[in-house]
Amino acid sequence: MKYQVFIDGVWQNSESGETYSRVNPADPNEVLGEFQKGNELDAKEAIDSAENAFETWANTPAPKRAQYILKAGELLQSQKEDLSRMITREMGKTLRDSREDVQQAIDLAYYIAGEGRRLLGYTSTSEKDSRFAFTLKLPIGTVGLITPWNFPMLIPARKIFYSLVCGNTVVFKPSSEAPQCACRLVEILEKTGIPKGVVNLVTGPGGVVGNILVADKRVHLVSFCGHKDTGAKIMRDAGPKRVSLELGGKNPLIIMDDADLDLAVRGVVWGGYATTGQRCTATSRVIVHEHIKGKVEKMLKEHIQPLKLGNGIDPETDVGPLVNKKAQEKTAEYCKIGFDEGAKLLLGGHIPNNLQGWFFEPTLFTDCSQDMRICKEEIFGPVVSIISFKNLEEAINIANSVDYGLSSAIYTRNIGTAFLAIKKLQAGITYVNNPTIGSEAHMPFGGVKFSGSNREGGPDGVNEFTESKTVYINYSNSIGLQSPIQQERFNSETYGSP
Ligand code: NAD
Repeated sequence: MKYQVFIDGVWQNSESGETYSRVNPADPNEVLGEFQKGNELDAKEAIDSAENAFETWANTPAPKRAQYILKAGELLQSQKEDLSRMITREMGKTLRDSREDVQQAIDLAYYIAGEGRRLLGYTSTSEKDSRFAFTLKLPIGTVGLITPWNFPMLIPARKIFYSLVCGNTVVFKPSSEAPQCACRLVEILEKTGIPKGVVNLVTGPGGVVGNILVADKRVHLVSFCGHKDTGAKIMRDAGPKRVSLELGGKNPLIIMDDADLDLAVRGVVWGGYATTGQRCTATSRVIVHEHIKGKVEKMLKEHIQPLKLGNGIDPETDVGPLVNKKAQEKTAEYCKIGFDEGAKLLLGGHIPNNLQGWFFEPTLFTDCSQDMRICKEEIFGPVVSIISFKNLEEAINIANSVDYGLSSAIYTRNIGTAFLAIKKLQAGITYVNNPTIGSEAHMPFGGVKFSGSNREGGPDGVNEFTESKTVYINYSNSIGLQSPIQQERFNSETYGSP
């Protein structure tokens, strides 16, 4: 089947006249479709379209804008199983993981639609007795949304729904590894009856289509989710333009010697190998107390060994393929780096030779140290490394020793230990007695350090997609000279007011 770009309410071929095919990572002989290789002209046309639609959309009352999102939620719900199968075929994760992806998009639709009746600013006292102050949340304009492939429903849905409820118009550039899900999501939005031009989709190379979204001054916000190096390039190219970044992770899971080990081990297996380790929040470093290290290693081996690799459509499968050959090669390369650095391989470490897709064995290294590259760099594959520690302070230092700071977890029965870790772990998210994965629609999601600074989910998401305007109203009939407080400052010649 041939898919098209969606500009100004019309599905059309790219100006490039070129297409590319995407195949099933579990079975690269299965071609899923032909997709448009969008170019600069398509991107500019999509921006024109979003610009034309902006004023009317921004002036549409927010509760009415929310109606389209609610409708999208209903359509997602009614197509959940079909969409889940599409995700699994397109990027490889198990059907169970794909259902979670779609369900989160549904939850976000209902949650974000509620923002149509909030979009809250605040009122405040003023320094003047006859002045009133408040803030407003206003649309930003045309926004460029650039997304990865690993959550092909949840991440685009979250960015699109927040953009729309806040009154922005959208040019959406999905990952070239997940164009089919992107087309289906936009078809769903089209079916809600949303006015033409409000949502535009251009598939194609990031360096071409994405570049235009970053460079064109009419795009007032670039909201990006992806690799830290791509994010850094976008930040450099965007100059003073507003950019929001959701980047990678190297997420630690600390196991204290008082932890419920069965719970912790199951947490590592779920956090480390679900979605084949291809989550920004994947558990990739297990930081374990030296007293229980041997026991944890043994238990982990017992839990990981039976994991079944295979096509994610098969209900028996625990771990699906990696997204593409490059990801498979990168994972193999990191395993080699691990051996060379002196890490001890407990399990896996190889490309299985009995499967034709881009699979990789669930891999566990131990006797690792925080300086090893496998413990510092994001692998984005089914590879977990164990590092041991003597006390909590050392565990937290190891956890914080990387550039990233997205998610983190600690397993302990001691409430004091848990609270200390919550305070000290440098991460946007900390879980207690839960693996590093699994967000909820109404809670903020995002990282610190090189994991980016964006916060979507919950009310914080509105801040990402609005301009905050401060309003002062003088109701005194006199000219607004300095307040007594400010006058005092002037008199003391310390500073003025901007
Ligand atoms: P990627 O950075 O390779 O690509 C992300 C998007 O950027 C794609 O749409 C791509 O086409 C586009 N792109 C590439 N080059 C570009 C350029 N020069 N200008 C503009 N756009 C460009 O990342 P990926 O492989 O798709 O996704 C995996 C990464 O995403 C991992 O690092 C993962 O941790 C991260 N991720 C982060 C979160 C989060 O919420 N923090 C969630 C999911 C994935």
